[in-house]
Amino acid sequence: MRLFEAIIEANHRAVAGDPDAGLHPADFADSLPIAALTCIDVRLNPLMPSVLGVPEDQFIWLRNAGNIVTSPLSSTMRSLSLACAVKGAEEVAVIGHTDCQVCKTTTTQLLERLKNLGIQRQMLPDNVNEFFGMFGSERQNVIKACEIVRASPLIGPKIPVHGLLLDIQTGKLEWLVNGYEAWATMSSKWNDVVRSAGETVDKLKPLMDFSIGEMKFPETKIGETVTQATDWLSQKVGSLQVPPAEAPPTELAPAPKAMNIAARIVDVAQQHWPKPPIAPARPFQKPPIPPPIRVRPPFPKGGKK
Ligand SMILES: [Zn+2]
Repeated sequence: MRLFEAIIEANHRAVAGDPDAGLHPADFADSLPIAALTCIDVRLNPLMPSVLGVPEDQFIWLRNAGNIVTSPLSSTMRSLSLACAVKGAEEVAVIGHTDCQVCKTTTTQLLERLKNLGIQRQMLPDNVNEFFGMFGSERQNVIKACEIVRASPLIGPKIPVHGLLLDIQTGKLEWLVNGYEAWATMSSKWNDVVRSAGETVDKLKPLMDFSIGEMKFPETKIGETVTQATDWLSQKVGSLQVPPAEAPPTELAPAPKAMNIAARIVDVAQQHWPKPPIAPARPFQKPPIPPPIRVRPPFPKGGKK
């Protein structure tokens, strides 16, 4: 059994009520650590990485709003690449979640909320959806992200790329993309492209319009989006009318069932993973606070003239 097969099995057993369900991370030391890309949703904070049963020190956590990967050379892709190359991640997982607010937000709502933050429509790119990578299906978003990661020249063919969807209410994981299968049957098309391009990213840049299946990569040049955004800004900064801020959307209810599942799985995992030595307790020391700045000469009473 391989790492994510064990993760899914333990998760499903825990969801079904098995109190002994859990990962034995020491059995999969060669597949750890993993690098995971998740959404920024705060409800994930207490669930990751517990819900996977992976120890915290073996979980390299990358986050962005909506766990979106926009292109094979994007900033997120570069971080994933460095997670493998510098931090030694052995496997990559894109983990989406149900009830994702990025998915639920319509273009009209997004523009309205940006407007409430003082960002006017003309300051934004024409295709706001594409610019932010908005999506209408959490599943499709994970599958698309995995395709882009798998196809990226920044991720070597040795790294399995998995796609999962976490049910934020129950804690159940759905394995949407089995990275081991995709790894074994990986299309040689991209490899040919990489080889013919001399295996350098610079030479791949003109090929970024290359489509895999239905997918198109909108970015054609590294940093193009940022440059365009900067151009818009420099052209369009003008009379900004900032409307009063509206109250943010109310915080969503936590998911107690998912929390229970996560706690149960990680309990078992912790029994099967070496614990770091406990640092001796130290009394909390307040950081030094700089003294108040004395103004000389003192301002005259009534303020400046
Ligand atoms: Zn989300």
